[in-house]
Amino acid sequence: MRTLITLPLLFLGVLAHQDWTYTEGPNDETHWPEEYPTCGGDRQSPIDVQRKKVRYNPSLKALNLTGYEAQGGDFVMTNNGHTVQISLPPTMRMTTAEGTEYIAVQMHFHWGGAALEISGSEHTIDGLRYAAEIHVVHYNSKYESYDIAKDAPDGLAVLAALIEPGDRQVGRRGQGQLLPTEAPALFALQVKDYAENSYYSNFISHLEDVRDLGQSTVLSSLDVQDMLPTDLRFYYTYGGSLTTPPCTENVRWFLLADFVQLSRAQIRKLENSLLGHQDETIHNVYRTAQPLNGRVVEANFEYHSDYRKINPQLFFAICGLLLPSVSGGPLSSGNRAGRRVS
Ligand SMILES: [Zn+2]
Repeated sequence: MRTLITLPLLFLGVLAHQDWTYTEGPNDETHWPEEYPTCGGDRQSPIDVQRKKVRYNPSLKALNLTGYEAQGGDFVMTNNGHTVQISLPPTMRMTTAEGTEYIAVQMHFHWGGAALEISGSEHTIDGLRYAAEIHVVHYNSKYESYDIAKDAPDGLAVLAALIEPGDRQVGRRGQGQLLPTEAPALFALQVKDYAENSYYSNFISHLEDVRDLGQSTVLSSLDVQDMLPTDLRFYYTYGGSLTTPPCTENVRWFLLADFVQLSRAQIRKLENSLLGHQDETIHNVYRTAQPLNGRVVEANFEYHSDYRKINPQLFFAICGLLLPSVSGGPLSSGNRAGRRVS
């Protein structure tokens, strides 16, 4: 962070009129279609990904992400009243298997926190809602700008990942690992929590700088790749919409199969740091799952639920022997704890 910037005039003009909300009331998601008819459309997002119904498409190759690694610059981070959003440079690009290139615009988060239970992802997997969700929003590079692309039928793509409590990512990357002599003391303090994901430390420490609606700060460095799951190869994909008004149905979704893992303390910080309209803490900023209406979700990996039921150990042993490139991927993350949608 370099400078704390407050732009009340700029943002209050835009945000004073709260025309849609997540919280129950006259502007909640059931009423979005009254002001924004597309929100009542039949290709809406988010959705519940039912893994047994996902179609494996072997022609889908891994996404090619460029410019996602650590970089310096001025990355504006803003509390826009619905989420915390970070502006991204156009050097960040995502190219799909068929060669469509998308340019990054911004990233933001969705979270829960209204009740004791932490769960606030938008996409759910087999009915399980995860703790939070990160969205990296892109526009199709065949359009001159985001403003033009946002209304075009093939204009947008969002790279999404689910966030859960855990410490696998920290351990696997060798960050934040404890020396044996340090471990007992730390575990005594954090008996029930996981280790921090150090790749989120900078972002989370700046949440307090954007506590108030319309407040912005500037991050002087950013590493989006490290804020994504470790394994970027496997994903679900489908055609959907923006999950906020105007709910435009021009978004190609790529939901990564692997997860981001944060400590519970980090998730609570994300859930409790921002104030929105009426100075209330911004909680439960997610839209509920929308009907598929015949859409098919595709994935570039196969899901073998039956093998796992028979003998998970044998299944993973076979995976390790036959598909070494897959071990540690989404096939091994299927039984991770999620929170059932209530
Ligand atoms: Zn979003």
